Amino acid sequence: MAYIQFLGAAGTVTGSKHLINVSGDTTGKHGLQVLIDCGLFQGQKEWRERNWQDTPVPAREIDYVILTHAHLDHTGWVPRLVKEGFTGQIFCTPATLDLCSILLPDSGHLQEEDAEFANRKKTSKHTPALPLYTEEEAQDCLRLFEPVDFGETKQLGAELSFRFVRSAHILGASMVEVTVNADGASRRMLFTGDIGRVRNVRANPGKVVHAGPTEGEQADILVMESTYGNRLHPTTDPRPELARLIRETAQRGGSVVVPAFAVERTQKFLFLVKELIESGEIPRLPIYTDSPMACKAVDIFLRHTEEFSQDTRNLIAKYGSPLVWPGFKFATTAEESKKINDSRYPCVIVSSSGMVTGGRIQHHLIQRLPDPRNLVLFIGFQAPGTRGFTIKSGASDVKIFGQIVPIRAQIAALEQFSDHADTPELLSWLRTFPRPPRTTYLVHGEPQAASQLREAMKKELGWNIEVAEYMQKVQA
Ligand SMILES: [Zn+2]
Repeated sequence: MAYIQFLGAAGTVTGSKHLINVSGDTTGKHGLQVLIDCGLFQGQKEWRERNWQDTPVPAREIDYVILTHAHLDHTGWVPRLVKEGFTGQIFCTPATLDLCSILLPDSGHLQEEDAEFANRKKTSKHTPALPLYTEEEAQDCLRLFEPVDFGETKQLGAELSFRFVRSAHILGASMVEVTVNADGASRRMLFTGDIGRVRNVRANPGKVVHAGPTEGEQADILVMESTYGNRLHPTTDPRPELARLIRETAQRGGSVVVPAFAVERTQKFLFLVKELIESGEIPRLPIYTDSPMACKAVDIFLRHTEEFSQDTRNLIAKYGSPLVWPGFKFATTAEESKKINDSRYPCVIVSSSGMVTGGRIQHHLIQRLPDPRNLVLFIGFQAPGTRGFTIKSGASDVKIFGQIVPIRAQIAALEQFSDHADTPELLSWLRTFPRPPRTTYLVHGEPQAASQLREAMKKELGWNIEVAEYMQKVQA
């Protein structure tokens, strides 16, 4: 019997991996095996340790990987899978492929840096500490990638086909519609990946790609994310608050440090700040983007005009590429990064990683957190166990590079920047389904978020909903 097995993002928001096994038999023959997403576990140690375990299914026995979008919690384990013997094709949309070509090598680079740091400072119990994979290994696995356009049906053997539909989460983000013809029946599965916001321009301005997941989807089995299953996004426009926070920080002689994902979130933030500068709501401060990847991502964005929102179209038409906006500086080299770090004048620094799990943001925070004139502004989700979560939740200090850093800067967060639909938005999207799925499995959520979303969906829609468990196998 065909089945789905949840190998990650069950009980947590990272490590997305869902295995479809078609027509295995009782002799142990596994049949066609397709992995939907191959994400890195992030956050708490208990989860991160799973990155070091082999897949429960030998990597060489998996035939294909299909990726919903480029975020590392959906793609960051691909180089490890390849390292363990996977040799099949990896399918994703063209923009996801372009983004993976910068995100995965960068992830390998960070893994190497962390291992090197651990060896130098002897902070790991393993000697020598090794990277999960290297930049070179990540670069090498890109040869297995094959782009598939939205809406194109791809047949993988006689029993399984798939196509990508838009999830409107980030550039290139898709849901995967899988059709399985096996065990004498045909059925449709829909893997949502991460689901973007529905259209609501005022409360979610600056959306770089067009908003709104594809409506009217049908599925017998729905495997759906639940990140914001117990939270509501503010419905107010974040711009006045953002402008006030930046103005006040500059007035007291401080700088604004923004940890942000290099892809999508950084671009969205830059677009909003540009608007605020041009409308005179904030002073013309230097705006530093300290992330080589964010700069490369701007190039990729500019290449994929087919995904632009109207906001983005208007802004680019009026001001051109963000890379040439006056006052906006993009640091790619370590020297440029260091110069920003030494700057004593009010400025805005956007750097990654978004949850302060690595990257140059760490140096900026070591430098700026102890000074009460500064502001650290969060514009993204902070997973429990990350440094970002610690700082955002009001701790008095945080450990960065093995060093205790006192937190005296002002800490603020704007939740409107989310690229995930919240519960009312998910419900309004689900109401566009012409009929209920036979079963919906909730993945990619903290346990409380998933169970609250299950209750909300049962009450509002009357559907059959289960919260997926790690390693659970369900009939497909
Ligand atoms: Zn995502």
